[in-house]
Amino acid sequence: MPKTKTNDPGAHHASSGALIRRFLPYLANYKMVLCLDLFCAALTTLCDIVLPKIMSIITNSAMGVGITLTAGIVLKLAALYFVLRIIDGAASYYMSSIGHIMGVHIETDMRRDAFDHLLQLDHTYYNNTKVGTIMGRITNDLFDVTEFAHHCPEEFFIAGIKIVASFVILCRASIPLTLAVFACVPLMGVVSVYLNGRLRARFRQQRVQIGELNSTIEDSLLGQGVVKAFAAEDEEREKFAKGNRAFEQIKTLGYYAMGAFNTSTRLFDGLMYLVVILAGGLSLVYGKITAGDLVAYMLYVTTLIATIRRIVEFAEQFQRGMTGIERFAEIMDTPVAIKDAPDAVPLQPGPGEIRFEKVCFEYPDDHNKVLHDVSLDIRAGERLALVGASGGGKTTLCNLIPRFYEVTSGRILIDGQDIRRVTLKSLRQDIGIVQQDVYLFSGTVAQNIAYGKPGATRQEIEAAARLAGAEKFILALKDGYDTYVGERGVKLSGGQKQRIAIAGVIAMEPKCIVLDEPTAMLDPRGRREVIDTIGRLNREKGITVVLITHHMDEAAKAQRVVVLDKGKVAADGTPKEVFSQVELLHDIGLAAPETVELCWELNQEGFDLPLDKLDPKECAQALYDMVMA
Ligand code: ADP
Ligand code: MG
Repeated sequence: MPKTKTNDPGAHHASSGALIRRFLPYLANYKMVLCLDLFCAALTTLCDIVLPKIMSIITNSAMGVGITLTAGIVLKLAALYFVLRIIDGAASYYMSSIGHIMGVHIETDMRRDAFDHLLQLDHTYYNNTKVGTIMGRITNDLFDVTEFAHHCPEEFFIAGIKIVASFVILCRASIPLTLAVFACVPLMGVVSVYLNGRLRARFRQQRVQIGELNSTIEDSLLGQGVVKAFAAEDEEREKFAKGNRAFEQIKTLGYYAMGAFNTSTRLFDGLMYLVVILAGGLSLVYGKITAGDLVAYMLYVTTLIATIRRIVEFAEQFQRGMTGIERFAEIMDTPVAIKDAPDAVPLQPGPGEIRFEKVCFEYPDDHNKVLHDVSLDIRAGERLALVGASGGGKTTLCNLIPRFYEVTSGRILIDGQDIRRVTLKSLRQDIGIVQQDVYLFSGTVAQNIAYGKPGATRQEIEAAARLAGAEKFILALKDGYDTYVGERGVKLSGGQKQRIAIAGVIAMEPKCIVLDEPTAMLDPRGRREVIDTIGRLNREKGITVVLITHHMDEAAKAQRVVVLDKGKVAADGTPKEVFSQVELLHDIGLAAPETVELCWELNQEGFDLPLDKLDPKECAQALYDMVMA
């Protein structure tokens, strides 16, 4: 398997004991059900234990040993067996219905906890983990836990009772014969444990591979637009076939392991019967046991073998369950890196001032230093434009504010409160982020806008949409606010998605809004609308606005422009102060072809900018003169 950098294939393999300890707390919630289940399990063993005894009494008395056989005795024995069977039926019903239902409850509880934990894991985890793999874990892997949950205690309990009971009863008939039969059991145990270990390793590989396969499928299907655009169906087929073949191979190896395992148990069955034939037959010849005892013997050994067979069969289920628990434990053991400090308090209301103090940052997994000693004071109610070349760290800087990542050194304060000392929930409610690549949930337009404010009324949703300048196009959609946006919002254009996202943030009523290139997908008119919206929010509601942009005209409308270059603040001041450093702007690409384009646009509106030379630098200079004039 290719070595990909993922959190996935369980680096550590916990021992069965450790895994069962992980599982016990869940089982403990259903103590009463479990006890009753085990009691029923004990009842079901009764028939199996009593039947050989009955047969031995009948055989012995028919052959003149002990009591004489009468119709009355036979009827009494039959009645006893009948009653036992009725009890057995009721107990089995309980076991296979309520027992399984208990398993389902446990599975549900575990899935709830796993999902809960996944929600707490940070960006770093998701950047390095394939979603398909995680999905497999919290759905399929936990299915097996249902079976495991009640079969595991039940089967071991039943087997324990049967083995002990048959041992005691058999010993009373003939100790040497019993010892001979039971001598096979430890040998069988050792071989089974060894072969089982191999089987379990194969199952684990299978799980990992199916996760890989799932994520390949997910990748190809989610990217099917790209696949079609590049007519790359053959490549995708090849990629899939590779994973599919790997799975086939692993599964094949798994069946070899299973074959070896099953065969070994059959061989041991044979060995035990052989012992009974030999030792039992000889004991009969030399008058050591009665014919009735030998019959009973045979039946007990059959029960014993059936029990061991059952355990061996169960071993497969057991392994699956263990693998499921192991994968569950892997999720639960992933540390939550970003969480509330023990003494965290809600963010106190304040005007919305953001302060970076000597902030350094490197991505925890890649250790690439992205921000160096950034100190920045964003005043409350300020309209700040953050500009700079791609890869300069603008998005990273903004992701630090709601603690999507933790600063490596330095600190960030909001209204004087260190963001690591306040609760994540209160922090994130006060910071509205419109991400660079907008994600909409599958649902309606209204649901997506209301996402940041659960229970928002239709009026509030409409007001937010109006403020975001989204109302017009929403009303033009097929069902207006109730239009279904498709998975990830595929039914909308990029600009529409962006504006719905802005409306969602507005509905949340945060103190600060951070917009990451919100106009990147808009036409000039849409851009102007969004920028006006942002200005209005800032002026009318006093919201602090941080706008990441590559457009000079947008930056020109801000109160303050900060240039972030290679992780450092390269310039900071009013647009006039910053734009006068034309050289710098040129270096960071702000005077790039877009400026030429803008000049061209402005010329359409009657200006006379030097387009003929098409030199970005000169365009920038001219534009600067014009903006500042
Ligand atoms: P900008 O938004 O200014 O274009 P980014 O903040 O997105 O820049 O990226 C800054 C640098 O950090 C880039 O060199 C990029 O490769 C790196 N980077 C961005 N995201 C990650 C990530 N999740 N893990 C590791 N490195 C990243
Ligand atoms: Mg960015």
